[in-house]
Amino acid sequence: MVKMKPPVEKNEYYNVTFEDLTHEGAGVAKIEGFPVFVPNALPDEQGKIKVTRVKKGFAFGRLMELTKESQHRQDAPCPIYKQCGGCQIQHMSYEGQLLFKQKQVKDVLERIGKLDMSRVKVHLVLGMEDPWNYRNKAQVPVGEREGGLVAGFYQQRTHEIIDMEKCLIQQSENDEVVQAVKDICNAFGIKAYNEERHKGWLRHVMVRYGIATGEMMVVFVTRTADFPQKQQVIEQIIARFPHVRSIVQNVNSKKTNVIFGDETTVLWGEEYIYDTIGDIKFAISARSFYQVNPAQTKVLYDKALEYAELQGEETVIDAYCGIGTISLFLAQKAGRVYGVEIVPEAIEDAKRNAALNGINNVEFAVGEAETVIPNWYKEGIKADTLVVDPPRKGCDEALLDTILKMKPKRVVYVSCNPGTLARDLRILEDGGYVTEEVQPVDMFPHTSHVECVAQLILNKEIFD
Ligand code: SAH
Repeated sequence: MVKMKPPVEKNEYYNVTFEDLTHEGAGVAKIEGFPVFVPNALPDEQGKIKVTRVKKGFAFGRLMELTKESQHRQDAPCPIYKQCGGCQIQHMSYEGQLLFKQKQVKDVLERIGKLDMSRVKVHLVLGMEDPWNYRNKAQVPVGEREGGLVAGFYQQRTHEIIDMEKCLIQQSENDEVVQAVKDICNAFGIKAYNEERHKGWLRHVMVRYGIATGEMMVVFVTRTADFPQKQQVIEQIIARFPHVRSIVQNVNSKKTNVIFGDETTVLWGEEYIYDTIGDIKFAISARSFYQVNPAQTKVLYDKALEYAELQGEETVIDAYCGIGTISLFLAQKAGRVYGVEIVPEAIEDAKRNAALNGINNVEFAVGEAETVIPNWYKEGIKADTLVVDPPRKGCDEALLDTILKMKPKRVVYVSCNPGTLARDLRILEDGGYVTEEVQPVDMFPHTSHVECVAQLILNKEIFD
């Protein structure tokens, strides 16, 4: 076989036009059809690039000069945007970001899902009026520099921790508490964890804020279960921040990039903080998944509820239910809701949340959705509407198989990854479902992430 030589060479310069953006927010230029990924370039821009790395089917480049700017280009408002990497598209106007995200969803549904895009409605992305300071959770690594503690973020592509006073997408209360906790620990001579030597103590600080209630939780992730100067540290935190309701320690003694370990204990105050979304109140514990953008979460859940088209009597299954957020929204309009989730603590929270809101037409089970739902089906539980909200890897095939056997009239698919959404929609379409509408929601402004809710209906001929 003749080996095709890529049409570009390392260290050479090329004049290009950018056509697209990757999921990571890099510009895509094509040279004789060969894609080159160039950070900091936007679609419709032109410029001169230097090729920095050539792989078999694609290359990377650096933007040397911009000769034509996109109408959506702006200066990134954050001074540490380039070092941090937490946001990928701050150099694009917010309007431009929303258009990009809609296009990305359409492209992926067509390319990976092979959906008939003349039929599937992909709506404009529902964005935020004020797309800043939206995050209710800060989760920062802690390190040491010249003897003092630093808390912030890993500099892009390194494991060096940069101190961060302010993050523009974070609730400012969270930044304040993180910085204060760092200062308090510093004053007591507390040592940060050192990744290379696997020594030291404080690995991460997490702060969670119930924006509707004003309650806050502080979590110390530490290498060992002891807590030097515990009483003094706690006293200082609660004296400075009376809205802190819960202080928790999580022990992670492993040499790993995973943030949390298995052992969690309450050091002071409550095991939970509370927040409300719409009319429903939620208790949230340290280890449970809870959406980070509460304003947009309401938009997302309202859309999921709308797509469920409930009349009041239906049986609904909520797969990957977390602390029961979507389940409780659905329960207000359904006959009975069954929620399933793999994290036991989240299911405990879900049950507590149902009781807290006086909702008693829900049942929650711990386990894999792909194991529990097939068992429910064998026991005769059949959903009229089934909601899934899986993690990035999408639904397990065993779950999709069961959906195709169970044949709920409607499937509402909430997804944080358009790629796996597209893959799963293809499987459901092949099994007799029709994707009616897809509503992208901007849960993470300034990052390249996009969340979607899709409505699928069982093919009318089959279900009539
Ligand atoms: N619907 C919830 C949670 C969505 S996040 C909300 O909106 O808040 C996805 C959830 O799926 C997480 O809580 C995660 O713990 C859970 N999960 C991951 N794999 C799972 C599996 N195989 N079966 C059931 N739940 C799973």
